[in-house]
Amino acid sequence: MKHARSLPPANAASAATPATAPPPTTTIWAADALLPAGWARDVELTWDPQGRLTDVRTGASPAAGQARAVGPLIPGMPNLHSHAFQRGFCGLTEYRAQAADSFWSWRDLMYRCASRIDPAQVEAIATWLYVEMLEAGYTSVCEFHYLHHDPQGQPYAPRPDMAMAILRAAQRTGMGLTLLPVLYQTGGFGGAAPHAGQRRFLHGTDAMLRLLGTLKPLCDAQGARLGLAPHSLRAVPPDTLTEALAGLDALDPTAPIHIHIAEQTKEVDDCIAWSGLPPVRWLLEHAQVGPRWCLVHATHMTPEETLDAARSGAVAGLCPTTEANLGDGFFDMAHWREGGGLWGIGSDSHATVNAAEELQWLEYGLRLTTRQRNVMADPAQPHVATAMTLAAVAGGAQASGRPVGGLQPGAQADFIELDPTHVALAGLPARDMLSAHVFGSHRTSAIANAWVAGQARVRDGRHALRDTAAAAFVDVRRTLVTDA
Ligand code: ZN
Repeated sequence: MKHARSLPPANAASAATPATAPPPTTTIWAADALLPAGWARDVELTWDPQGRLTDVRTGASPAAGQARAVGPLIPGMPNLHSHAFQRGFCGLTEYRAQAADSFWSWRDLMYRCASRIDPAQVEAIATWLYVEMLEAGYTSVCEFHYLHHDPQGQPYAPRPDMAMAILRAAQRTGMGLTLLPVLYQTGGFGGAAPHAGQRRFLHGTDAMLRLLGTLKPLCDAQGARLGLAPHSLRAVPPDTLTEALAGLDALDPTAPIHIHIAEQTKEVDDCIAWSGLPPVRWLLEHAQVGPRWCLVHATHMTPEETLDAARSGAVAGLCPTTEANLGDGFFDMAHWREGGGLWGIGSDSHATVNAAEELQWLEYGLRLTTRQRNVMADPAQPHVATAMTLAAVAGGAQASGRPVGGLQPGAQADFIELDPTHVALAGLPARDMLSAHVFGSHRTSAIANAWVAGQARVRDGRHALRDTAAAAFVDVRRTLVTDA
């Protein structure tokens, strides 16, 4: 079979909701909820028909007939970095192909997969991926989307079919979306020509700005945010970066900007050879880096770069399980926090799709490297899972450019009901349930229900599309592996 099994129609935002669904809930009461300032008791959330919270009241009594949360409420996690199609080949690169496997040998395998895949296959993979994300604590995603063209490098016309596949996957599953079309022009620093494996990624600057103009109304129509992702300094020359950012500003002066910045030491060495500066320093000196920016994989920085980047107001985009999977290195969180930096988490290559597990890996990496415990706790929140959840939600929301910064009026009603019957959680106080969810549920989900913009997308741990989306995903992967 060449294409995915057909999924339900994607032409309505409520595609995942059965026709017989009751009127949408606009309020819920919870015995415990994690608000931006910390845990609160007897909380009532109320939202408007657009799914925005209008009131968050503590000390409330549950009204007769009012929906009650089954367990503690925590804010939904924004996933600030995703390449959806890469979910299709997880597990296929975990063998030694040469004496010293690295990010670069992984990238060769990833390019081989990317060279074959078509828009219907991308839609099937992304649909399943977003089902997985919603079941695993993420309620929105920043899609760093660089697979634009057909296998010969020709644009899909008249529509940008690849970007539309991502939009449809988000709409079908109810996933909140920030779409970040990736600008990619060169194969290395100094204007090196791209190679054949990169031809599906390439845009001239004008063509990219036209693509943004095409996508803006499509994103607006489904509540998605449009931004831009200059892929990296090795893929975007300085003049292009300046022109593209000016074009983005003309379209939307507050649109988010994401960039891969310092994932690999080779990339840092090449940047220094080209410019005399490491990439984060170069960017700080040549672009107006600020709160619109997300620095993805800011893994290799000097302490001074780290402090200055943190103070810029940009968000550090951390992807602990992918960075571990690829052997990237570990982020300098101590200097980042000293500079007051914001951070969030992403699942990137999707070797792991679980918000709690990303937090666990981040904290464990810090414990291993500092030989301390509860490193990410802070004076206001000594419970490390609570502190990390609040920080990652705030940073992820800023990076996404969407109002998803936690349970407060004006934000979207994006939240998770933890499962109080899960063996790891049962009988514990709410804050310890969250700790057990992050550190003690070991690869099982302790999530009962997940809500996005006031609509329940996951009930009893399952998304309505789970079975059909999983079957379509498996079909696509079988095709991709068979064709390899
Ligand atoms: Zn990435």
